[in-house]
Amino acid sequence: MFGSHPSVQILKYPHPALRHVSKPLLRVDSELKGMIHQMLDLMYAGEGIGLAANQVGLPYRLVVMNVRSDRTAPGEEHVFINPVIAQRKGQEDKEEGCLSFPDIYAPVRRPEKIVLAAYNLAGEEVNLEMDGLYARVAQHECDHLDGILFIDRLTPANLLKVKQDLEDMELAFSGERRRGLIPDDRLIAARLSQLEVART
Ligand code: ZN
Repeated sequence: MFGSHPSVQILKYPHPALRHVSKPLLRVDSELKGMIHQMLDLMYAGEGIGLAANQVGLPYRLVVMNVRSDRTAPGEEHVFINPVIAQRKGQEDKEEGCLSFPDIYAPVRRPEKIVLAAYNLAGEEVNLEMDGLYARVAQHECDHLDGILFIDRLTPANLLKVKQDLEDMELAFSGERRRGLIPDDRLIAARLSQLEVART
């Protein structure tokens, strides 16, 4: 099914798939591995350090990460299936960006240290203590799976600073829609539930 959509791409704000609450995956098979490879390719092509499945229109609890954005860096590439943030500690403000918001950056307050519980590609449960950039990226990506975007976590003052950029993106999105490049909300919702039924 996925193979019939070779033009998979990173969806930009305010695409409704970014607000979708994703469903847990029940199995890892070759089709899913193919999707994961496409996600990794897109993440590296965009020089990103993390990507969540609903950012490419897949309604699954699945994220990929590589904080060095270098596919040759040993041990840096991570695939987390059904990730859950099991513990949170501390607090830190750091600038964040997102592949769905090109060129928009703003500081976000998040717990400094976490424990991430997830499954890896081999279907094994992993529990990882994370801090620094790892913890930040993991939390940003897990937020995506719940339809939460980093702009939702900005202080009112910081939100105001990016307001014009967001409005520009909203205008560009409506323009693409008018030109028939993006389906309407009902079609997008139907497509997401079709993909959910196929795999969850
Ligand atoms: Zn993001």
